[in-house]
Amino acid sequence: MARKIGSRYTANQILGRGSAGTVWLGEGPEGPVAIKLLREDLASDQELVGRFVQERTALLGLEHPHVVSVRDLVVDGNDLALVMDLVRGTDLRTRLERERRLSPEAAVAITADVAEGLAAAHAAGVVHRDVKPENVLLDMQGPLGPGGSHRALLTDFGVAKLIDTPRRTRATKIIGTPDYLAPEIVEGLPPRAAVDIYALATVLYELLAGFTPFGGGHPGAVLRRHVTETVVPLPGIPEELWQLLVQCLAKAPASRLRASELAARLREQLPSLVGMGPLDVDEPDSEADGDEGAAEAGDGEDRPVAPRERRGAVSLVPGAKPDSNRDTHTSMRVPAPDELAGGARGTARAPRTPGAPRPGSARHRAATRRRRITLGVAVVALLAAAGVGTWVATDDGSGGSPDTEQSTPASP
Ligand code: ADP
Repeated sequence: MARKIGSRYTANQILGRGSAGTVWLGEGPEGPVAIKLLREDLASDQELVGRFVQERTALLGLEHPHVVSVRDLVVDGNDLALVMDLVRGTDLRTRLERERRLSPEAAVAITADVAEGLAAAHAAGVVHRDVKPENVLLDMQGPLGPGGSHRALLTDFGVAKLIDTPRRTRATKIIGTPDYLAPEIVEGLPPRAAVDIYALATVLYELLAGFTPFGGGHPGAVLRRHVTETVVPLPGIPEELWQLLVQCLAKAPASRLRASELAARLREQLPSLVGMGPLDVDEPDSEADGDEGAAEAGDGEDRPVAPRERRGAVSLVPGAKPDSNRDTHTSMRVPAPDELAGGARGTARAPRTPGAPRPGSARHRAATRRRRITLGVAVVALLAAAGVGTWVATDDGSGGSPDTEQSTPASP
């Protein structure tokens, strides 16, 4: 059923659901568009609507081949909508779930695309703050790039900032997954461009390994690892690529590369990665022996392999039991109704422990849902206690002045 959004757009069909609302395939004066209709509770929040309008300059100004452009912001009665370029394809999470691990060439090409998008955003003074595979869209209509990868575009700019006030975070549990959080955020510092580099390096690691470097177990343990643990090498990874990952996963934000440098260094490496298959990495708990980094890499190099299991995680929540199930490092977003009913979109692929329900089974979905709800509560409590989240309410001055316009077209 079609539905009018403001005076210029019609939403025709649901493309997908995310944490902040529903994305529709729509039609505007200039052709097909994607319309993200924010959830009702967000749309009815006057403070949020005010900031939404305030942010329009930064959001509308971002035009880049690797950024999903926001064309229009519509405030219409109870509707609050972002009108975006339509990307015909899928998101990176879906591809990762299908393939488990990407070839280094494809992973690096996708990451370089996103780094270029970030470079444009950072140059415009915009920090994304929620870089993760769910927010990378793959344009499947365009030509194939290196390693059979489709052009990657970063989406959801500004949305994290708009909706993540501490008040709202506590009320709705929307805080994002802890897997991609830079250590300085865990420590309560304001998010600068380097947080996006850390998150993108985490995504690259995940594309190569099939799991994130510090994910797994209790969310508190994940946060702690970001601050205290060193990333464990992946077996068979080319040394130069590894060095790049290490640099961008540095605990000190100033040690990380800038987005434009990262993009250039990744592109330089592409020719040497041609024809290389996905890395042969053990699942974190596939053999459940807990030898964190103790085994030797099988490639003749004298260095440890990635951990098979995270063990002995120290919980930050008093009384909470450490949890070795890596399933818990999945996205913290609130499941959409169609997912609860067995819908198609999932979150991070999680290795299966012996006896654990098969991914996709009804038992697995029920267990995942229970875990998400529990984790959502735990992390929100944790972050609230730690004071994390106070940064999100601050204005970085990138927006314009408040406006009462109902609709703000990108072009005159
Ligand atoms: P999340 O909040 O989980 O990041 P989104 O709300 O951004 O998810 O997106 C929900 C779904 O809509 C995703 O499956 C994504 O593939 C799709 N989608 C989002 N933006 C666009 C777009 N600009 N063009 C096409 N599909 C989109």
